[in-house]
Amino acid sequence: MASQTNAFTIPKTMKAWVLGGPDELSLVEKPVPEPGRAEVLVRIDAIAVCATDIEIIKHGLPAIIDGGSPFNKGFTPGHEYMGTVVKLGPTVDEFEIGDRITVEVHAGCGRCQRCREGMYTSCLNYGYREKGHRANGFSTDGGFAEYAVNSVNTMVHVPDDMSDEEATLVVTAGTAMYGLDVMGGIIAGEPVVVLGPGPIGLMGVGVAKALGASPVILTGTRERRLEMGKRLGADHVVDVTKEDAVEAVARLTGGKGVHYVLECSGAPNALNEAARMVNRGGRICLAAFPAEPVPVDLAYLVRNNIYVFGIRGEGRSATHRAAALMAQKRFDAKLIHTHTFGLPEVPTAIKYARERIEDAIKVVVKMSAS
Ligand SMILES: [Zn+2]
Ligand SMILES: [Zn+2]
Repeated sequence: MASQTNAFTIPKTMKAWVLGGPDELSLVEKPVPEPGRAEVLVRIDAIAVCATDIEIIKHGLPAIIDGGSPFNKGFTPGHEYMGTVVKLGPTVDEFEIGDRITVEVHAGCGRCQRCREGMYTSCLNYGYREKGHRANGFSTDGGFAEYAVNSVNTMVHVPDDMSDEEATLVVTAGTAMYGLDVMGGIIAGEPVVVLGPGPIGLMGVGVAKALGASPVILTGTRERRLEMGKRLGADHVVDVTKEDAVEAVARLTGGKGVHYVLECSGAPNALNEAARMVNRGGRICLAAFPAEPVPVDLAYLVRNNIYVFGIRGEGRSATHRAAALMAQKRFDAKLIHTHTFGLPEVPTAIKYARERIEDAIKVVVKMSAS
């Protein structure tokens, strides 16, 4: 089934950033990839820098190319992008040429047990391209480039009135949504604590509030971020440099504690603190983690029947639900977008995100800004 007329001229080669050794990115010409069955070619219009990109560029992991390190393999990182469908692979009728879309990261193999359960971010054939798995920017080429190939499973339509920059944030909101999903997701009328006002934490506040959680409590150390959390829907913010977070949650919930904590800070003691914020039988989802192994009061977790979940990425089509909330303008994700650069300035964009220059939160690379 060949696609008919195509308004887009697709060149043979494209500009793409590729990873050499650690912290070595270079802008090269690379062939434009061909979409296979159930895949499309996306012209990338904008891409946000994620903390995980910074991790990959410096340390390699969690990216895995051909079963090993991503260094010196011509690999293009970047996974939080949006763009325009410019070519359809065989059998694609879910999208049309010209559609504006945003992406989630993981196209599971679709045939392993986890994929069949909707947990495609934990695909048992992770990195096994021949079996259909893709995780662009992790195990296959990502979005710091002019084009990328995406499985139709990984794409969400973007409404006309959503900007390119905002659309790059859908996957971040989708990750926060997935965190709330795995805890059970029945949060209307329930207090929810979000630890850490990074991008996922701030989107977690927006999503929790949009789903009816009440009150939504956000903890953090930086005033500007907490202020942003309020604008995204936090009913209470706790500056942990001024007040003990556990005591604050007890005060704000009349001593009852909460049923759900979404941990997005990665602070070494976050799990122990979260355990003392939830009530008996409460649930904690870890969406961030400390760099080093940390001591955990397991006896407290067991005695209090506390459930702890970990998530990787944005499973169970959570991205679609997050995109729907954003399309309905239930929270203003744009607030966390702070800086924009062009494609030739990717290293600068990464530097801004890494060093939080001018309190950068989400730095977006926009192709038309090149
Ligand atoms: Zn990311
Ligand atoms: Zn799978």
